[in-house]
Amino acid sequence: MSDALYRLVYYSRNLVAGGEQALRSNLESILEKSRINNGRDAITGALLFNSGCFAQVLEGPLQQLESAFERIQQDDRHGEVSLLALDPIAARSFPDWAMGYIGGSAEQSESFAAIGQNSGFDPARLNGEQLFELLKDLALQEEAAAA
Ligand code: FAD
Repeated sequence: MSDALYRLVYYSRNLVAGGEQALRSNLESILEKSRINNGRDAITGALLFNSGCFAQVLEGPLQQLESAFERIQQDDRHGEVSLLALDPIAARSFPDWAMGYIGGSAEQSESFAAIGQNSGFDPARLNGEQLFELLKDLALQEEAAAA
């Protein structure tokens, strides 16, 4: 069996009803479940939430990535799930994150404010590479802030 690594990038639109509180608790359960499943499946990556949209990078073996994305697509907490990239990679960019969350802190919000101003953080205007680079930059800032 091949253990080649792949990277999957998608974005989607939030469908959680009920305001900030409901969104927060759904995000918590999504992250909790993701970290368990992704740890089991050798998947690493990062999830961004901003302005009503999710953007996620998942890295790992192809079969596990495809299974995870199948489940993610069927989740009715979001919609318009749009695959932007699924490419082979030489190495992981988020090796320590079973699923890192970006967008929670004020600093993080500020750091992508410029992108938000330009696009209303509309990930539909970004391609897979741009979205990946954005999440990677924000993840590096997050790690630097935590160090
Ligand atoms: P179970 O936890 O047993 O759930 C069974 C079913 O119930 C699933 O179809 C699930 O979608 C649904 N479900 C469970 N809780 C809720 C709820 N509170 N509201 C609505 N439906 C619910 N999963 C990963 O494994 N890795 C990821 O990286 C990942 N990222 C995600 C990112 C986003 C933006 C979203 C919305 C979901 C993400 N998920 C991720 C969750 C994924 O969609 C599935 O819910 C999860 O993988 C199902 O895990 P399970 O097979 O163990 O099913």
